[in-house]
Amino acid sequence: MKKIIFLLLCSIYSSLSFSQSIDSKKLLKHIEYLSSDELAGRKPLSEGSLAARKYILDELTGYENVEALYPDFIQFFSFTNHLKKYEDAANLVAFIPGSSSRKVIVVTAHYDHVGTGRADANGDSIYNGADDNASGTAALMVLAEYFSKNRPLHSMMFVALDAEEMGLRGAKALVDDFPYPLEQILLNVNMDMLSRSDKNELYASGTYHNPQFRPILERASAGSNPILKLGHDVPGTGREDWTKSSDHGAFFDKKIPHLYFGVEDHVDYHKPSDEFKNIQPEFYINAVNLVLKCVLALDKDLYNENEK
Ligand SMILES: [Zn+2]
Repeated sequence: MKKIIFLLLCSIYSSLSFSQSIDSKKLLKHIEYLSSDELAGRKPLSEGSLAARKYILDELTGYENVEALYPDFIQFFSFTNHLKKYEDAANLVAFIPGSSSRKVIVVTAHYDHVGTGRADANGDSIYNGADDNASGTAALMVLAEYFSKNRPLHSMMFVALDAEEMGLRGAKALVDDFPYPLEQILLNVNMDMLSRSDKNELYASGTYHNPQFRPILERASAGSNPILKLGHDVPGTGREDWTKSSDHGAFFDKKIPHLYFGVEDHVDYHKPSDEFKNIQPEFYINAVNLVLKCVLALDKDLYNENEK
C-alpha cells in the first residue's frame, strides 16, 4: 500500500512538473515548417512570408483566452528600405489578459528572414533562417499556448514581428503605435536564435541595463540545462554588446526594460545552411523550457499587489 501511495505521489508530482513545460513536439513541428524551403526564407511580403503569417495566426488565434488588440490580430505597417517601399508588412499580435495586473509582459520574436540570395557552394540559394529566427517564432507560439492554459498574473502580449532583418522595423512600428501607454509595459522578453549551441549555453542579455532582473534570473536558472549566461550588454564593447542587435533594441530606445534570450553566432549564421537539419533539437527544447522558467519567475517575482 505504501508503495502504491508513493507511486501515486510520484505520478502526481511528475504530471505537475510536466505542466511547467512547453509542448516540445509542436515546437519542432513549428520550426520545421517555418524554416522549410516552401517558405523560401520569409522575406517580408513574399509568398513565403504570407504563408508564415497564415500558419502563425492559425496557431495563435486557436488558443483559448486569446484576445485581439488589432483587427484580425494584425498590426499592419509600412516602411522604406533601400528606396523600396514595403506596404502592409505585418506584426501578428495575440493578447492574454493577466489574472491580477494590468501591466503587460511583451514577448516578441521576429518571423521574417532574408529570403533568397546568392547560392552557396552547394547551389543552395534559400536562406531558411531556421535558427534566425524560426526558432524564436516557434518558441513564441508554444509559450503563448502554455500561458493560454496557465493564466499569468500579468497580462502577456505575444508578438511575431515582421521585418527585423531590415532594421527592427516591426518592433519600431509596435512601440510607435502601442495599444496601451508604454508605461504599462513591465518588460519586453525578446527571443532571437535559440536552437543551437555547441557550448550548451543560452544568453540572457539586458541585466546590465536592468539589474533588477538579475537575481530573478539567477534563481530561476540555478543548475539549469542549458547554462544561462548573463551578459553581452556592456556599453562600449562593440559587437559583443547585443543591446541593439534585435527587436528588443526598439524597446530599449523607448526606455522600456528588456531581456533578450539568444545564442552566440554560429557557422551557419545568415547562410543558406541555417536549416532545420542543423539545429540541435535537444538543446532547443531545453532552451525554450528555460525561457519559460525565467518568464514564470519574472511574472511571479515582479508582481506587486499594489500595482493593480
Ligand atoms: Zn534574428
